[in-house]
Amino acid sequence: MPIVAPPTSSPPPSEAGGLGARLHELVAEVLPHRRSITGDGLRQTLLALGQRVPLRITEIPSGTRVLDWAVPKEWRVREAYLAREDGTRIADWAESPLHLVQYSVPARDRMPLWAARAHLHTLPDRPGLVPYRTSYYAPTWGFCLSQRALDALAEEIGEGGDVEVVVDAEHVDGSLTYGEVVVPGQTEDEILLSAHACHPAMANDNASSLAVATLLARRLFDGSTPRHTVRFLFAPGTIGAIAWLDRNHAHLGRIRHGLVLANLGDAGGFTYKRSRRGTLDAPLAVDRAAELALRDLGHDLDVRPFTPTGYDERQFGSPGFDLPVGRLTRTPHGEYPEYHTSGDDLALVRPESLAASLEALEAIVRTLDGDGLYRNAQPYGEPQLGRRGLYASLGGLPNGPEAQQAALWVLNLSDGRHSLLDVAEHSGLPFAAVRAAADRLLEADLLTDETSRSAAPVGDGATLSADDLVTGLPTG
Ligand code: ZN
Repeated sequence: MPIVAPPTSSPPPSEAGGLGARLHELVAEVLPHRRSITGDGLRQTLLALGQRVPLRITEIPSGTRVLDWAVPKEWRVREAYLAREDGTRIADWAESPLHLVQYSVPARDRMPLWAARAHLHTLPDRPGLVPYRTSYYAPTWGFCLSQRALDALAEEIGEGGDVEVVVDAEHVDGSLTYGEVVVPGQTEDEILLSAHACHPAMANDNASSLAVATLLARRLFDGSTPRHTVRFLFAPGTIGAIAWLDRNHAHLGRIRHGLVLANLGDAGGFTYKRSRRGTLDAPLAVDRAAELALRDLGHDLDVRPFTPTGYDERQFGSPGFDLPVGRLTRTPHGEYPEYHTSGDDLALVRPESLAASLEALEAIVRTLDGDGLYRNAQPYGEPQLGRRGLYASLGGLPNGPEAQQAALWVLNLSDGRHSLLDVAEHSGLPFAAVRAAADRLLEADLLTDETSRSAAPVGDGATLSADDLVTGLPTG
């Protein structure tokens, strides 16, 4: 049954550097919850986010068919450890959830170390780190520990020495949980921002993106109403996105733009992965807005094509849905040494990186939201700006030349076919300057607004309807 967690008061006013600190605090707050693809750790995480923004929680019972999958049972752990015969614990779930392979089946045994090795996971090339391992759909058990800890154990007891393994866990009928935050817009056209919420005890993957998305949602609630409705989805990886897509088939036509978010807290630069259609055909509005927004902020951006690997862009970009969803990360998965290890901790995630990620994400959303399609009402020759009081006001500003250039660019490209994204791309001017120029020209009745007339996401020329998405018909 869906429940709604009420928002509390707004976060405290930000001081210099306050945003990064608040984001880092939120990462630290959700980090200890023992997340998995189901269960109370996931719910506690969502409830923590729901203290900042109104969050709608959906529970889908175990066994429910969702697309080609079934919702798994819930996994509950009471105790799990690997110990020496004398009782000394070598890997203990109570100390860190990373020590136990996620979804391990029950086990209680005593065996020589050599026999236990098949169930022990280490990282020989990073001997001080504990790996993160999962086995959601193949029933087995296992422990994760540092290579150093395993080597020390072997030295002390020898391969023939006995170890005790205890996995006191059960798989029970329960439900899968996901959370949604919806910032209402002036239209039902949606921007979807999705972050996975299933990894325990790791700060960059994925507490960082949960924190950035949540505080961006808070900002959007506190600001003026956006044109698009902005939907945030916090769901367990793969199965959560699949369950959400299954439940929302009929509404997917509303999604005009979307981004999968991950790894937004490390010190690396930004990487953008284009949408599926934006890779196979021409870049979509979301792909172009991401590149423009990061350009305007002065960030180098590593742009990559869509691949059917990675995070939930795999589901949103499956051929039947083919949603206009790209992916924003800092360092992508598998490309930093702490990835999926105990090294992905609070020190890896930096306040300044988190703050810059939020600013970048907000800029992308505002670029998409501010895009529009206009027609020059005086297309024969340049309209006389001075007579309308535009030239003087533009010329008097310290950034007059840029504002004036932007006005001339908007007037020239506004032929009903080129959007403000096109103007920003062709002119090299900041999108915000282009948007501001369009607003002044609209006030002077030099532009007519054709944005709402365009059924498609403006700027990418594609036509998308709910029917297309449901039946999997090819789109424009
Ligand atoms: Zn991951």
